[in-house]
Amino acid sequence: MTLPIFLLHNGSSALSSSAAPEKASRHLVYIKANSTSCLTVRSEKLRVKLLTHGQNRIEEMAAAEIPSVKLMDGTSIPVLGLGTWKSKPGEVKAAVEAAISAGYRHIDCSPVYENEAEVGDAIAAKIKDGTVTREKLYIVSKLWQTYHEPDDVEAGLKVTLKDLQVEYLDLYLMHFPIGFKQQSGHTSARDANNQIITTDRDYVDTWKAMEKLVEKKLVRSIGVSNFNEKQIDRILENCTIKPVTNQVECHPYFNQKSLSDHCANKGIILTAYSPFASPDRSWASPDEPKLLEDPALVAVAKKYNKTVANILLRYQIERGHITIPKSVSPDRITQNKHIFDFKMEPSDISHIEKLNRPDGRVVLMSL
Ligand code: NAP
Repeated sequence: MTLPIFLLHNGSSALSSSAAPEKASRHLVYIKANSTSCLTVRSEKLRVKLLTHGQNRIEEMAAAEIPSVKLMDGTSIPVLGLGTWKSKPGEVKAAVEAAISAGYRHIDCSPVYENEAEVGDAIAAKIKDGTVTREKLYIVSKLWQTYHEPDDVEAGLKVTLKDLQVEYLDLYLMHFPIGFKQQSGHTSARDANNQIITTDRDYVDTWKAMEKLVEKKLVRSIGVSNFNEKQIDRILENCTIKPVTNQVECHPYFNQKSLSDHCANKGIILTAYSPFASPDRSWASPDEPKLLEDPALVAVAKKYNKTVANILLRYQIERGHITIPKSVSPDRITQNKHIFDFKMEPSDISHIEKLNRPDGRVVLMSL
């Protein structure tokens, strides 16, 4: 059954079967009542508050505000997710819970962030309190470099599944195209001399082992991270299952134009990590240019009556990217979601493209 409802100017709403309220705006939202009398919203734009009974309606509505995009394997991914790198134990549980309550469904994780168990506690708590079901969440994690040997790949995933307290992942990424020799266990790669030893295992072999995880239904989709164009092409030439995304650093100081075009031509959607240029990374220098304070972006933000953070995220969406900003602040988590109610003019996008810098990359891997 599909029911139209009117959204009132004051944010409340009424089913249209009641007398159409005088002050109803022209916005009409269609809601579908399913067999469990829970309501799902088809509109991805509007925040509505239902007057009818049933649990979790408001959270389901909020979730509907973050659109999803179809990946080449036929699955869908919410275009905005919550990043969790540097989110400290003691903070990350509250952050993930706040994000899920605010309507985020996509959570980006990795065992090397050393907080997956706490992320798992947050996921379990939000499923338990009825805010979401596992099926409504989109959980991403990554194969760390100490698990690149094909025989180790499933073991690496199993640690993540246990920590996240889930039976399967929606998306599993190869974190980097290089393997590390495992030292004292799990993600640890430094030997007694504090050295990291890389392995010569071909990432194509590792990819083939990841494909088996899809066959075993332990993960729904697989992708890569920090891959360049040549590495993407080698995977495509040798794979049975194509990577659905390449998760890489991307923001106006390092806009990845060529890689983004290359991926798009192959049907691979780029996921932009560090969309704010990762200002809380430990090696940030006080003298470096600060993306969130860039005068050109401040001017664009003023024009649209948005924050610079909103502009940086909307910039990714307009380019057809997925993006995963990190925050542990409930206010910022909510603010970062308010990017689907405006569109930037092409001239503003071109203006932002010009901020690209040769030294713009901030997430560098040093061994
Ligand atoms: P980021 O998202 O660019 O920036 C995070 C920083 O921005 C934090 O200091 C956060 O502070 C602040 N922030 C968040 N929202 C804000 C807002 N509205 N206004 C002002 N400041 C705001 O950095 P990132 O953590 O490097 O990247 C995001 C995610 O991408 C990571 O967490 C991780 O999940 C993923 N990632 C993946 C890789 C990879 O190799 N695949 C590498 C790096 C990152 P508060 O927390 O205090 O709000």
